[in-house]
Amino acid sequence: MTFASLGLIEPLLRATEALGYKTPSPVQAEAIPAVLKGRDLMAAAQTGTGKTAGFALPLLQKLTQEGPEVASNSVRALVLVPTRELAEQVNESFRVYGQHLPLRNYAVYGGVSINPQMMKLRKGIDVLVATPGRLLDLYRQNAVKFNQLQVLVLDEADRMLDLGFSRELDDVFTALPKRRQTLLFSATFSDAIRQMARELLRDPLSIEVSPRNAAAKSVKQWLITVDKKRKAELFLHLLQERRWGQVLVFAKTRKGVDELVDELQGQGVSADAIHGDKPQPSRLRALERFKAGEVQILVATDVAARGLDIDDLPLVVNFDLPIVAEDYVHRIGRTGRAGATGEAISLVCADEVQLLSAIEVLIKQTLQRRDEPGFVPDHRVPQTDATGAILKKPKKPKKPKEQAAGKDGKGAALGRWIDSEKPKVKAVRKGPGFGKVKKG
Ligand code: AMP
Repeated sequence: MTFASLGLIEPLLRATEALGYKTPSPVQAEAIPAVLKGRDLMAAAQTGTGKTAGFALPLLQKLTQEGPEVASNSVRALVLVPTRELAEQVNESFRVYGQHLPLRNYAVYGGVSINPQMMKLRKGIDVLVATPGRLLDLYRQNAVKFNQLQVLVLDEADRMLDLGFSRELDDVFTALPKRRQTLLFSATFSDAIRQMARELLRDPLSIEVSPRNAAAKSVKQWLITVDKKRKAELFLHLLQERRWGQVLVFAKTRKGVDELVDELQGQGVSADAIHGDKPQPSRLRALERFKAGEVQILVATDVAARGLDIDDLPLVVNFDLPIVAEDYVHRIGRTGRAGATGEAISLVCADEVQLLSAIEVLIKQTLQRRDEPGFVPDHRVPQTDATGAILKKPKKPKKPKEQAAGKDGKGAALGRWIDSEKPKVKAVRKGPGFGKVKKG
């Protein structure tokens, strides 16, 4: 299948060709013709599946082919996103895909001055990418009007709800014309999202590109158990021992992010932080420096890292496990993207056993474990599995070589695995979502 066979116009084909896109990803193959026909969409697609082009390409085409020209302060298509970073990233995608078209796109988000945004909106914008809070501010100050609005896209809808944007979203929906096309994208489908879909979408086409709540398949996932207080030391050890290149690291709190960055910088490792306390320009700068390879380690919180588009990232390290299990799926979605394989390693301490269990239940997979010599924890992490069972703490072993073997026999299997060179992982050739499509 080609992009031309999906009915895309020449300026868009030129743009995708220049980007080296050869075939549409499954979400694109489903979404592009449906959006061109004007259908509503409910797509379960996580980052890395090519979902942005799935909505951006057909939207750009429709806006080019269908009038009228955009009036001042008006918008014709609105894309709502949870974070500033994602707003920048999606806006950049629209810019690149639409570079041969006479359309204007722009991103607005909070944390930066509103005045330049108001100025920019005066001319009218064909595609506005926005975070909900700032959009409402602009709307309430009459800087943006929705009377010309034809299409609404909700990107990462689950995340918008997680971040507490539910009220803002309702206010935005109330302000929009009822007659419009609506496209809803979400990595996970909670009851709240389904309810939102029922209220907003008309006879939507459902697209699912990976099993519900399943983790990206091209990512090798495993964990190392370690005592909490030795995590930073273990991270540095692994970094040096395994000669890691660039790593995206997730920590639970802003404080944790800063502490790790300080520790790394103190050891002469180039590291930078992305979290919500940092002003927007400095977050973007950290990301740009990381993307440019000027910084080896980028340490982030979940909220700040949402939507970061970093290509060819081989390794994600969960310095802490996320409080919300779904965030694990989002985190590891940063690697193994667009068909490449990646690795996601979690450093897990005994305190985190409940979080680990919740993740394994969600991804329906027991994460493989290994101990790192010299870092075997005093506080053992009880064995967990994908059923949600947490086995009683195994007794502390007497001899080092029996360390991994528990009484229940599970440890024996674990021990074998620890001895082997490589973690046992399913061989997967395809990238997340670049596999089979389930239609509903
Ligand atoms: P997304 O899921 O929209 O964040 O896209 C993930 C990555 O896949 C981005 O870096 C895109 O540039 C890339 N991508 C999107 N569509 C294709 C395609 N059809 N072929 C190859 N790469 C793609």
